[in-house]
Amino acid sequence: APRKSLHFLEEIITRDLEEGKTREVVTRFPPEPNGYLHIGHAKSICLNFGLAEQFGGRCNLRFDDTNPAKEETEYVRSIQEDVRWLGFQWAELRYASDYFAQFHAWAVELIRKGLAYVDSSSPEEIRAGRGTLTRPGSLSPYRDRSVEENLDLFGRMTRGEFDEGACVLRAKIDMASPNLNLRDPVLYRILKRSHHRTGDTWCVYPMYDFAHGFEDAIEGVTHSICTLEFQDHRPLYDWFLEHVSVPSRPRQFEFARLNLSYTVMSKRRLLELVTLGIVSGWDDPRMPTISGLRRRGYTPSSIRRFCAEIGVARADSMVEIELLQHCLREELNRTALRRMAVLRPLKVVLENWPEDRVDELPAENNPEDPGAGSRTLAFGRELYIEQDDFRMDPPKGFFRLSPGREVRLKHAYLITCREAVTDEAGQVTELRCTVDLDSRGGDAPDGRKVKGTLHWVRAQDGVPATVRLYDHLFTLRDLGDMDPDKDYKDYLNPASLTELPALVEPALAQAAPGERFQFLRHGYFCADGDSTGEHPLFNLTVSLKDSWAK
Ligand code: ATP
Ligand code: MG
Ligand code: MG
Repeated sequence: APRKSLHFLEEIITRDLEEGKTREVVTRFPPEPNGYLHIGHAKSICLNFGLAEQFGGRCNLRFDDTNPAKEETEYVRSIQEDVRWLGFQWAELRYASDYFAQFHAWAVELIRKGLAYVDSSSPEEIRAGRGTLTRPGSLSPYRDRSVEENLDLFGRMTRGEFDEGACVLRAKIDMASPNLNLRDPVLYRILKRSHHRTGDTWCVYPMYDFAHGFEDAIEGVTHSICTLEFQDHRPLYDWFLEHVSVPSRPRQFEFARLNLSYTVMSKRRLLELVTLGIVSGWDDPRMPTISGLRRRGYTPSSIRRFCAEIGVARADSMVEIELLQHCLREELNRTALRRMAVLRPLKVVLENWPEDRVDELPAENNPEDPGAGSRTLAFGRELYIEQDDFRMDPPKGFFRLSPGREVRLKHAYLITCREAVTDEAGQVTELRCTVDLDSRGGDAPDGRKVKGTLHWVRAQDGVPATVRLYDHLFTLRDLGDMDPDKDYKDYLNPASLTELPALVEPALAQAAPGERFQFLRHGYFCADGDSTGEHPLFNLTVSLKDSWAK
């Protein structure tokens, strides 16, 4: 259903268009290629691409690759894949590094105007000189260098004549500003590192604050949307744009970043989980990355729906992961084919079923979607059910199988347990049962009530498979609440992954990687990328039980 009220950015853009302040809305999604995208980025993607679409404008994908130290082409590739997978197409693909020469020219322009200087203080001296919230900064002894001297020194910095840390280029703004970002911020530092695109062309690299507004101005971005922690940087964003001749005047707006319960969202931590081998990779199904969610079985539409549900606000908050799961579950309930998969199999022999008799039973593929049709299940004398569906001594309220009890086998017959065969250790190895041969389809001829319904596979055609069950990666809902003496890794959930043997119905042997199903009574599962016809492998996408309370 369409939302009735506009969020604050939609209101701003609507007004800008009405007042003629904006002719065409131009936004950008500007990831730094230093990691894989996560669900927080999805919020920013949906917002930036969504606004452009909604207002008939355009959105660029821009790699904010101004720091050579952490950036890699693998990330450049994965980010494009993930944005496309989410269902968005950028107007243009841009790299901030393509603008290095222009940034440099603007730095020279600032020097010529007496608004930037080369500071030869040490990094420690510069840090100390910046002051604090309660104490103004102090002027650098190099602040009054002449324009000529600054031009000469910056040129020598650029040609590689100085070592890393020997000097930096700073803006000359206001060392007494209550906003620390305006106390002569660093514009350029020396980094003798190869850049993933420009190689060794440069040995000075611009700082994020200096570069970002210029990137927007070059691309004609009208609304530069970023997260709240950049609010205090906005005066600086504007200052740079006001003091050099830029081709357009973008404006910055801030929104609240997404925090999701029971997970971490910083690329630094996600990278650490990968490099320490705590997860199998960036696309481990427990990761909050787009590639992890994809491998887990999430659909692009469920992620977009989630981003629409959480909305856009100016106050930080924690969103429950159950809401994300709820969005997916609702979709898969409508679309996923129902299948039977028996975890931890337990053999059942139907003593009164003739040895050679095999029944072909119709089974609907999705009760929510008659168009999904049906399949045929073979039923015979030897079957498997789950170990968890049998109890020697059933507790109150247990309606599954136990000695003397009758249950329904889904799409099939009513069976009664006559005897549980055990091994020397007392483990149940097999159930001897009888079947009501007149109960085909699952109804008793005399109308007697049978409460429990179990899923099953036939022994002869059950396909051995592996099923991976997942739980939260962390045990703490909000890692912001963690004990300050501990590390976030102390809160890893040791039970976040459980691998189980299973027997699945034959239709699942052909599951293509990425294909999603509902396993009856368990939840939604997705065939893993490593799944093969010989050995199917399924990931738990989301359980059936919806714990999301509206
Ligand atoms: P990290 O702090 O984890 O390194 P980042 O913000 O530095 O993340 P970028 O690659 O710079 O990562 O992010 C690209 C865009 O995605 C930015 O505009 C940023 O504001 C946005 N973004 C990042 N994380 C979130 C989040 N949790 N919620 C909403 N938007 C986010
Ligand atoms: Mg970052
Ligand atoms: Mg960033």
